[in-house]
Amino acid sequence: MKEIAIIGSGFSSLAASCYLAQAGNKVTIYEKNQTIGGRARQFKKDGFTFDMGPTWYWMPDVFERFFKDFDKVPSDFYALEKLNPAYRVFFGTDDYITIEDSLEKIYTAFENEEAGSSVKLRKFMDQAMDNYNIAIKDLVYRPGVSPLELVTVTTMKKVGQFFSTISKDVRREFTNPKLISILEFPVLFLGAKPSNTPAFYSFMNYADFGLGTFHPKKGMYSVIEGMKNLAEKLGVKIMTNQNVEKINVENGKADALIINGQKIEADIILSGADYHHTETLLDKKFRQYSENYWEKKTFAPSSLLFYVGFDKKIENVDHHTLFFDVDFQKHSQEIYDAPQWPNDPLFYASFPSKTDKSVSPEGKEAGIFLIPLAPGLDDIPEIREEYFEKIIDRFEKITNQEVKKYVIFKESFCINDFVSDYNSYKGNAYGLANTLLQTAFLRPKLKSGKVKNLFFTGQLTVPGPGVPPALISGKLVAGLIEKENKN
Ligand SMILES: Cc1cc2nc3c(=O)[nH]c(=O)nc-3n(C[C@H](O)[C@H](O)[C@H](O)COP(=O)(O)OP(=O)(O)OC[C@H]3O[C@@H](n4cnc5c(N)ncnc54)[C@H](O)[C@@H]3O)c2cc1C
Repeated sequence: MKEIAIIGSGFSSLAASCYLAQAGNKVTIYEKNQTIGGRARQFKKDGFTFDMGPTWYWMPDVFERFFKDFDKVPSDFYALEKLNPAYRVFFGTDDYITIEDSLEKIYTAFENEEAGSSVKLRKFMDQAMDNYNIAIKDLVYRPGVSPLELVTVTTMKKVGQFFSTISKDVRREFTNPKLISILEFPVLFLGAKPSNTPAFYSFMNYADFGLGTFHPKKGMYSVIEGMKNLAEKLGVKIMTNQNVEKINVENGKADALIINGQKIEADIILSGADYHHTETLLDKKFRQYSENYWEKKTFAPSSLLFYVGFDKKIENVDHHTLFFDVDFQKHSQEIYDAPQWPNDPLFYASFPSKTDKSVSPEGKEAGIFLIPLAPGLDDIPEIREEYFEKIIDRFEKITNQEVKKYVIFKESFCINDFVSDYNSYKGNAYGLANTLLQTAFLRPKLKSGKVKNLFFTGQLTVPGPGVPPALISGKLVAGLIEKENKN
C-alpha cells in the first residue's frame, strides 16, 4: 500500500483516485478551491444552478466503462436523459437547423437542406463510426508512452486520415456552408481549428450524431458528485482549501507537498492541476518542459462565459443552441492565428432549465453564454460588458424576442478567472488541443522523466481535452502508477 497525494479535484483526479484506492492505496486529494470539480464546478444563485464549465455530456459509453470498472453503472449515481433535439444551430434570424436524437432524423435534416447530402452523410458517418470504434474503444486507452502504441493493423489502414484534416474531408463531400459548419463543430471540443485537426478525429461526429447528447439531471455537476461519492466509498479522502505551493524533491524523488506552509509526505504524487502550473511547483532543474515549449504549443481556447438568471422563459431556443451566424473562419483566425478579441464572435448558449426544472425557479430561465477566445488576451471588466451587449443584441434579433430587460443577474467568468481559480496556462479553458503533433505520445507525458514518483493527469496530457478524456486520463495514469508499484 502506498500513500498517494493527488493535486486537484477535477474529473481526471477524481477518476485516478478511484482506481488508485481500489488498488489498495491510501489516497488523499488536495484541492485549492473551496469546492471540488475543477473546471466542472457549479455556481448557484437565487434559486438558479449553473454548470460553470462542461455542459455537453457526450460519449456515454466512456462514463459507463468508468463506472463498470467499479461494478457500478452511471444510474447508481445520477439520472441521464437523452436530449431531443440534441441542439439547434442558428445561421441568421429565423434561420436554423435542428439536430435531433437519431441518425435517421439527422439524415432527413441534411437532405432537406441539400438534396443528395444524406447519401454523403451516411458514407461519412460509416467512417466516423469505424474511427470511433478504433479510437475510443481502444487507442485512447493507451498511455502515450511509445509511438508503437498507435501501430496496429487497423490504424495502418487509416494512416491517410492522420495526414488529412477534418476540414478537407468535410469540404471534399459537402458544399453547403451550413452543413459544413455543423460537421466541423464537434472537433472544436478538441481545441484546434478543423483545418488543423486530423481527419481521423471524425469519431467526434459519430459521438455527436451517432451517440447523441445527454443531460444528467441537475447538471454535469451531478457527475462530479457521483464520482466523489464513489471515491469516498473506496476510501479516498478529499480535502478542499488546500493550495499546493511546492512539490518537494529529495534524491530525485518527489516525497512531499507543501500545502499552506505545511509539509505533507507521500510515496507518490499525482497532479491533475494544469501540467504547466504543476511544473512551476518544482525547482527549475526538475521541470521537463521549458516556457518556450509551452509557448509553441497550440492551446485550446479560453472563453468568456456569462451565467444569467432570466425573469421569464426564453423562446425559440433549445437546451443547447449555437449561433453560427457569423464568419467562423474569421473568428477562428482571431483565436489561433492572430490572437485578439473577436470582431464578430460566434457563441454558444445553453438553457438547461428547458429540460431540467431543478435548475431554475418556476417561470424563469437559467442561461449560460460562451464565447471562445484566444488564451492570454487582456481581460478587463469593460470588455466583458461590451461583449455581453454584443451577443445579447444579436441573440434578441436572431431569436425574435426581448431578453435583456429580463436579466435578473449575470455573472461573468473569463481568462483572469481561469488563471486565478485553476492556475490555467494563459487562462486556457480546456487544455492542450489535439492536433496531429499533439496527439498520443507527442503530448506531455503522464510520468515525469526527471523526478521519480511524480505523475500527471488531465487535459494537458493524454489523451486530451474534454470530460470523457479526463476519465480516461485518470485510468491511464493509475495504471502506470500501479505498474510501477509492482516493480
Ligand atoms: C467553459 C468550459 C466548457 C467546457 N465544455 C465541455 C463540454 O461541454 N463537454 C466536455 O466533455 N468537456 C467540456 N469542457 C472540458 C472539460 O470540462 C475539461 O476537459 C475537464 O473538466 C478537465 O478536467 P481536469 O481534471 O483535467 O482539470 P480541472 O478540472 O482543471 O482540474 C484541475 C484541478 O486542480 C486544481 N488546482 C490547480 N492548481 C492547484 C494547486 N496548486 N493546489 C491544489 N489544487 C490545484 C484546480 O483548482 C482544479 O480543481 C469544458 C471546459 C470549460 C472550461
